[in-house]
Amino acid sequence: MKAIFKKLLGDKKFPADYSRPSEGDIKQALSTIVDPDLNKDIVTLGFVRNIDITDHPNGTEVRFSINLTTPACPIKEKFKSDAKSAVKKLPGVSKVTVEMTADTPSLKATGSALSGIKNIIAVASGKGGVGKSTTAVNLAYALSKSGSKVGILDADITGPSIPKMTGALNPEKMEGDLVVPPVKDGVKIISCSMFKTDGSANILRGPMASNLVTQFFKQVKWGALDYLIIDYPPGTSDIQLTISQVANVTAAVLVTTPQEVSCQDCDKAAQMFSTLNVPVIGVIETMSYFQPKPHEKYFIFGSGAAKTISLRFGIPILGEIPIEQSVSEMSDKGLPIVSANPNSLAAVAYSNAAGQIARYLSIMHFEQKAALESFRLKWRSN
Ligand code: ADP
Repeated sequence: MKAIFKKLLGDKKFPADYSRPSEGDIKQALSTIVDPDLNKDIVTLGFVRNIDITDHPNGTEVRFSINLTTPACPIKEKFKSDAKSAVKKLPGVSKVTVEMTADTPSLKATGSALSGIKNIIAVASGKGGVGKSTTAVNLAYALSKSGSKVGILDADITGPSIPKMTGALNPEKMEGDLVVPPVKDGVKIISCSMFKTDGSANILRGPMASNLVTQFFKQVKWGALDYLIIDYPPGTSDIQLTISQVANVTAAVLVTTPQEVSCQDCDKAAQMFSTLNVPVIGVIETMSYFQPKPHEKYFIFGSGAAKTISLRFGIPILGEIPIEQSVSEMSDKGLPIVSANPNSLAAVAYSNAAGQIARYLSIMHFEQKAALESFRLKWRSN
């Protein structure tokens, strides 16, 4: 240590009161930061990695990374600034560099045909025209913008609209037997409309639909994805059941408009997922209100549906998306609002909802792990 200083400072005097933090000191400082969802500190959770301590003439530089469970963590910046200031307080530290990384855990059984896809999220609604596809696209783009690897599967065979909403063209490449999906803004996109031969995809029923859906999973080169968003066909018939089973869906998000009558449709969708043992992690209300000026808010389509569903099923409201002309205008041009105008109220609401989804999936992962741990402990103690 003194030798390093001698080298750096030459003949200048070595500072007598110099104190240098050890790796243990740094971990102790960082252990004051608790993940509010997982109720454990970031050191215990194994998030702190690659601690590097370098001495300079004017003090010590500390570098480390914090590896989160999703790049879309809503409090990523808070973790970063809290970690920085906790370490900066240690005596002798002159500079702190924190790198934020993420490794999204998989909630799916490994070894399946889709093992490269870590989480499959169903975006579903009880009926059409509620803004489900718009929501699916914007959630996918928001997750992608936060650094996650994302794909969208437009399985809405009743009215596939994702290619129009994203500008994704038909696939042009094959790799072996696999179709390579077109990519827009980093998001891999496949739609059932890309495979229509005679314009009749919307009359697909039963085995045909099941066949098509299976092919989407098994014959598309999805590669490694953190999240695959599936835009579900509206309703609760055989097609939705087939997709849920073939895809081994991790979690579902319900989309509704604000009218109380929409609750009935949403109820059916929630019950379908419950029968299939797919956890519903929340509800998104679209076209919730119209806000032409900061203090003027109009509830054009009524209000209350998301709240009722949230209370009935004990699930959180992930977002209330305002009606904005630019949402549909940009969507018609192939530009989802989170890309076209990321600061608009709707884009911010979609991005927050995406962050919440990533957050709940991380919690689910840890809860399952914790359940497994306690099982192992019990098993060992017997
Ligand atoms: P679904 O998938 O449920 O059938 P879509 O996502 O296709 O519904 O949306 C139906 C129509 O409503 C589209 O024209 C879309 O652009 C428009 N839309 C959806 N969400 C909003 C919003 N928040 N503000 C304005 N228009 C919206």
